[in-house]
Amino acid sequence: MNLTINRQQLVTELETLASFSDAPAPAVTRIVFSPVDLNARAYLKSLCGSAGLTVREDPVGNTFARWTGREPNLPAIGTGSHTDAIPFSGRYDGTAGVLGGLEAIRALQRAQLRPRRSIELLIFTAEEPTLFGIGCLGSRLLSGSLRAETARQLKNRDGKTLDEIRSEAGFGDSLDRVRLPPGYYAAFVELHIEQGAILERRSIPLGVVTAIAAPASLRIAIEGEGGHAGAVLMPERRDAFLAAAEIALAVEQAAKSTGAIDTVGTVGVCEVFPGAINSIPSRVRIEIDFRDTDLARRDAALAGIFKNCDELAARRRVTIEREMINADAPIQCSPLVVDALTRACREHGFESLPMVSRAYHDSLFMSQIAPVAMLFIPCRNGVSHRPDEYAAPEDLARGSLVLAQALADLAG
Ligand SMILES: [Zn+2]
Repeated sequence: MNLTINRQQLVTELETLASFSDAPAPAVTRIVFSPVDLNARAYLKSLCGSAGLTVREDPVGNTFARWTGREPNLPAIGTGSHTDAIPFSGRYDGTAGVLGGLEAIRALQRAQLRPRRSIELLIFTAEEPTLFGIGCLGSRLLSGSLRAETARQLKNRDGKTLDEIRSEAGFGDSLDRVRLPPGYYAAFVELHIEQGAILERRSIPLGVVTAIAAPASLRIAIEGEGGHAGAVLMPERRDAFLAAAEIALAVEQAAKSTGAIDTVGTVGVCEVFPGAINSIPSRVRIEIDFRDTDLARRDAALAGIFKNCDELAARRRVTIEREMINADAPIQCSPLVVDALTRACREHGFESLPMVSRAYHDSLFMSQIAPVAMLFIPCRNGVSHRPDEYAAPEDLARGSLVLAQALADLAG
C-alpha cells in the first residue's frame, strides 16, 4: 500500500476551519451550536461529502462520516475528535484529529484500499465544557455514561436547556437516540496534539497513548466560627481557613504518598468568608482536582484525604462537608489498538513513545463501548488552549499517515 498524505491540503483545511471563529485570528473561539460552529460543521460536512463519505448527524450533533467497507454489516473502525474550541484558544486541539482523520481516509482511498470493515470519521459535539459545564457531552451520551434524562437537565448560564439550544441549532430528535448500540465500533482511534511537551523535549515524533487519566473533582465546605482577629485568643478559635489549609496539604501528601508519578492533586479554588483581614474565617469552600491513571490507587488516595478531614474536623472543632462533583474512571487503552498504532509507527520508520494522556478526551468515554487508543503528535512548547497553540505541518502529516496505516490494519 502506497500511502501519501496531502500535507498542503491538510494545513489549508485546518486554516479554513480556524477561520470559523468568534475571536480574531490567531485566536479561535468556537462554542458548540453557535453560528460559527454551525458554519464550521457545514464546511466539514462538505469536505466529507467530497471524499465520498456518507454523512449522518445524531440528535446532539455528533457527526458521522462513513467510508463503507466490503462487509458493511461488520462493526466499523472509528476515528475522530472534536472541533469546538474554548474562548481564545488555538486551532489544533481536536481539529488535528478530525481533519487528520479525514486526510487519513482520503490517503487510504488514493492507495486504492478496499477495507473489509467500514471506516468512520466521528466529530464529537461539545468536548469542551464551555456551554454546559460538562466536558465530552457527545461521547458521554454515545457511550451511555451520561443518560439522556440527565442530559436534558443541562442548562447554559442563561438557563436555556440543552434541548432548547440544540433544537434551535436544527437538532430536534430525542436524546434517547444518541446512544450507540453495543458493538457499533470494532475499534476507535483518536489523533490529538499532545498538549504537553514530552514528545518535543525528547525529540520523539509520535506518542502512543496507553492510559488516559481522569479527574475526581470534589467540593469541600468547612464551617468554623468567625470573630474579631484581635479579640478571640488562639486556643478559642475554630478557624475554617486553617482547616482548609491542612486539607490542601493533605491533598499534596496523598498525591505524593502513592509513589506513582501519575498521581496528581490540586486545590484550585479557595473561597474565604467573610474575607476581611481582621476577621477570623468562618466559612471556606475549596475545590480539589485529583487524578490518576489507576482508579483503585486514586480512590485509596482520596480515602486517605477523607480520613484526614474527619480527624482534623474533630481536632479543630469545625464541620466539613464533602461533595463529589464528578468522578470519571481512568482507563487503560486497548492492547489491540495500541499495538496497531505502534506497528504503524514502526512500519513507517518513526520512533514512538508509549505515554499517558493526562488530559482527558472523548476517547475516555468511547472506551466504555469500544477498544480505544490515541495517537499524540507534538505541539510547540506543549502549549494548548491558547492562540499560540501550534503543530508543525510535518507532525500533522506524520500523525495522519500513521493513523491511516493503523486504520487500514484494524479494518482488515
Ligand atoms: Zn481536545
